[in-house]
Amino acid sequence: MCVLEVQSVSVNHLMGVYNRAPLEVDRGRGARLWAKDGTEYLDMVSGISTNALGHANPILVEAVKAQAEKLWHVSNIFRIPGQEELADKLCEHSFADAVFFTNSGTEAVECAIKTARRYHFHNGAPERIDIYGFDGSFHGRTYGAINAAANPAYTNGFGPPMEGFHQLVWGDHEALKAAIAAPTTAAIIVEPVQGEGGCRAIPEHCLRSLRELCDEHGVLIIFDEVQCGMGRTGKLWAHEWAGIAPDIMAIAKALGGGFPVGACLASAKAASGMTVGVHGSTFGGNPLAMAVGLAAFGELVKPELIANVNEVAGYLKQQFVGLQERFPDIIVDVRGKGLLIGVKLVPNNRDFMALARDDQHLLIAGGGDNCCRILPPLNLTIEEAREAVRRFEGACETARKQMAG
Ligand SMILES: *Cc1c(COP(=O)(O)O)cnc(C)c1O
Repeated sequence: MCVLEVQSVSVNHLMGVYNRAPLEVDRGRGARLWAKDGTEYLDMVSGISTNALGHANPILVEAVKAQAEKLWHVSNIFRIPGQEELADKLCEHSFADAVFFTNSGTEAVECAIKTARRYHFHNGAPERIDIYGFDGSFHGRTYGAINAAANPAYTNGFGPPMEGFHQLVWGDHEALKAAIAAPTTAAIIVEPVQGEGGCRAIPEHCLRSLRELCDEHGVLIIFDEVQCGMGRTGKLWAHEWAGIAPDIMAIAKALGGGFPVGACLASAKAASGMTVGVHGSTFGGNPLAMAVGLAAFGELVKPELIANVNEVAGYLKQQFVGLQERFPDIIVDVRGKGLLIGVKLVPNNRDFMALARDDQHLLIAGGGDNCCRILPPLNLTIEEAREAVRRFEGACETARKQMAG
């Protein structure tokens, strides 16, 4: 029997791909998590932007229970009424006319890339295969997704770079213009607000000029809103802030409120190549996922929830900027949008996360560029937000003492 030494504190049979926090989570409620030993934590990770309505939300629990007793899975060879209903709702509330349901974000990205290439193939331009992504982005872990983001940390050792995938650096306008004008370009893929990469919000005027340039040259835009979508930035879709729309969009994380479900949305034009037989999924869009997706979407589109995001986000932004002024030795920058908040740190972000967890019982997520991410549920109350700031402040004080000592 082969037992893997995952980390010094735990020995188990899991592939050692995660550096897990030494915390055994037992149950959750709203913005709280409890470990097996009974310790209570304030959770500003939300399953990485997934449990947007908090843990064990009664509306979602009820939806899962009711559907679980009725029907789980039938396969896409049958009509699935929940799928049609959720697709209707997503299209009613977005630029899209067509939806493909997946089980995860990376599958939604995969479908988006395939939809873009098929569009050109189907419309007499099969030479248009090139997909351009940006530095600092994250699109998931399947081959298409890692090649689109081209982060060496995720591509190294996984074989040759895939043909037709290229990388752009934000701010290099000449390279971007050349990429869009090239006759073999299919699509540009971008997160309007980067998540894993360090919470960089792409300036709205940049997104608008990207739209103009792509329109001029018949190139499609794919927005990856897997993390920044579904209300997190204070609008249902992050790209709404720029007043433009993509041709194709990948969503997932909050779509099921914590239940695994993703979707690729497209305009009728962009989806025109996705004809019978060219794509599919066994589990994607199963009745159980659709039931919880419908219940979650019903909550996520409520104006009160979006208003709460803007109110709490405004408060948190102001408070974290205040903390930056008081702790310039700990905090270098506060960035992001809405309740996707990035705090760039001086101390190592992993160490700071562990300190916040153990010293303050505050859970925060990591991120690129030595950021930590604050990703609370969208229904976080102002009182809970105050508590999060107080605990973060406590972690800053402890970190300062540690650095001095
Ligand atoms: C999390 C994430 C993905 C991948 O989603 P999975 O469900 O982990 O496959 C893709 N894009 C972005 C922007 C993400 O944050």
